[in-house]
Amino acid sequence: MARSLHSRPNRWRTERRPTRTRACGEAKRTMKKRLLDWILCPSCGERPRLQVFAQEKVEISAPVASPACSFYCGRHDVSQPAAITPPPDCGACYREEILEGALSCACGLVYPILDGVPRMIRNAREEYGEFFARHGLAGVPKAPAGVGDRRSSKSFGLQWTIYREGDHTWFKDDAGLRKAEFLDNLQTTPEELAGATLLDGGCGNGELTRAVAEYGPAIVGMDFSRSVEHAYRRLHEKGAHVSHRVHYLQGNILDFPLTSRSFDMLPTSGVLHHTPSTYRAFRSISRAVKPGGRLYVQLYRRRPAWIHAVNVALRAVTTRLPMRLLYGLCYAATPVHSGLSRLMHRLRGEPAPPRATARERAVQMFDNYSPRYQYRHTVPEIIELFRSEGYVEMKDVTLDNEARHMLAVLGRRPAEAGAAEVRQSSPMTAQV
Ligand SMILES: [Zn+2]
Ligand SMILES: [Zn+2]
Repeated sequence: MARSLHSRPNRWRTERRPTRTRACGEAKRTMKKRLLDWILCPSCGERPRLQVFAQEKVEISAPVASPACSFYCGRHDVSQPAAITPPPDCGACYREEILEGALSCACGLVYPILDGVPRMIRNAREEYGEFFARHGLAGVPKAPAGVGDRRSSKSFGLQWTIYREGDHTWFKDDAGLRKAEFLDNLQTTPEELAGATLLDGGCGNGELTRAVAEYGPAIVGMDFSRSVEHAYRRLHEKGAHVSHRVHYLQGNILDFPLTSRSFDMLPTSGVLHHTPSTYRAFRSISRAVKPGGRLYVQLYRRRPAWIHAVNVALRAVTTRLPMRLLYGLCYAATPVHSGLSRLMHRLRGEPAPPRATARERAVQMFDNYSPRYQYRHTVPEIIELFRSEGYVEMKDVTLDNEARHMLAVLGRRPAEAGAAEVRQSSPMTAQV
C-alpha cells in the first residue's frame, strides 16, 4: 500500500526531536529553509512540502533582509514572499537549521533531507532506504524509472572520498585561483556578485562554491553524487562565515529539481559532458537562468583523432570494471602514467610536467576512465547550442591555462522587454 507523507502528519510530530542551539561554526550539516525558494519535485515538477524531523538554532554572521526568498517562502508555505504582510522575519528563519526532514510531493514521492542535505533525486527511495525505514515510510512509492546513471554517481562519490585536502589532482585545485578566475569566466565583478543569486551546477567537492560565496552572493551548489556531503563538511570547516549564503542539494541535471528563470548566474564546470547527453543536460539546466542572466559552461575539448580513438577503446573496458578494482589498477599504473606524461611534454617541446603523488595521478586517471559518459566538444558547436536555446552574446572565455583540455563558453539570456523597470521597482529581487 502506498502511504503518502501527506496522510501521516501525526506520526511525524511524535518523531520530532527538540530544537537545540549550536554555536556558530560548529561542524554540522544543516539546511536553511531559504533553499526551498528554488526546489521542485524532479519527477513531476510541483513544489514539495516541508516536514521537519529535527532542527536546531544557530547564530548567523550577518543580518538578513526581508523577504530573502523571491518565489516561494518555505517557512510560511506561500508563493510571492514579497506579498507577505507584515514582512516575514527572515533573520529568525535563517537561525533555524534543518538537520533532518522530508520534502513530500503531491505526486506521492518523498525526498529525504538527510544530514541537512535535500536529496532531490528520483531514486532517493532506493538510495536512502534506511531513512524511509527509520521514519516508517517504507510504503512510499518508488519513482518511475528515470535517466539513472548509478555508475557515475557512485564513481564521483568515491573519487571525492579518496581525494584529500591539499591534493593537487587537477592543476586548478586552488580555491584562490579559481575564485579570481571566476570573475573572468562570468565577466563579472565582486560588486555585481554581492547581490546576485547563483547556481553552481555540479559542484563536486564544493571548493568553488565556497570560494565564490566569499564575494557575497546567495549560492546554491548542486551535485548528483554524495560529494555534497563532503562539500558541506568542508564549508563548515573552512567557510563558516559564508555558510548562511551557501545551500547544497543532491540533484540530477537531467531530472532538474530547481525552478526555471531563477538565477542571475549559472556556472557549470566539467559536468555536462559526464551526463548521458551534454545537449540534453544543457537544455535542462539553461532554463534556470533568469532573463538577463549569464550561463557559463566549461566542457572537455575535442582532442586529436588518435588520442580520441585510444581513449574510447580503453574506456570501453574501464567503465565496466568494478570501481574499487579500477581505482587499484589506476594506482598501479601511476608510474606508466607519469612516464607517458613526461614523454608527451618532451615531444611537444614543453618543460617537464609538475610532480604529482601516486594518489593524485590515480584520481586523475580514475576521473577519466570510470564515469560512464564522457563527451568532448568544440567551441563553435557549443556556441550553436547556446543559440538554439535563445542565448545571445556568446563568447569563448576559455583561459590559456585550461585550453588544451577544456573549452569554456559564456552566454546571456536576453532580458524580457520591460523587465528591467519591473525588476528595479520590485522588492522580489531583494537578496541576501
Ligand atoms: Zn512530484
Ligand atoms: Zn522565507
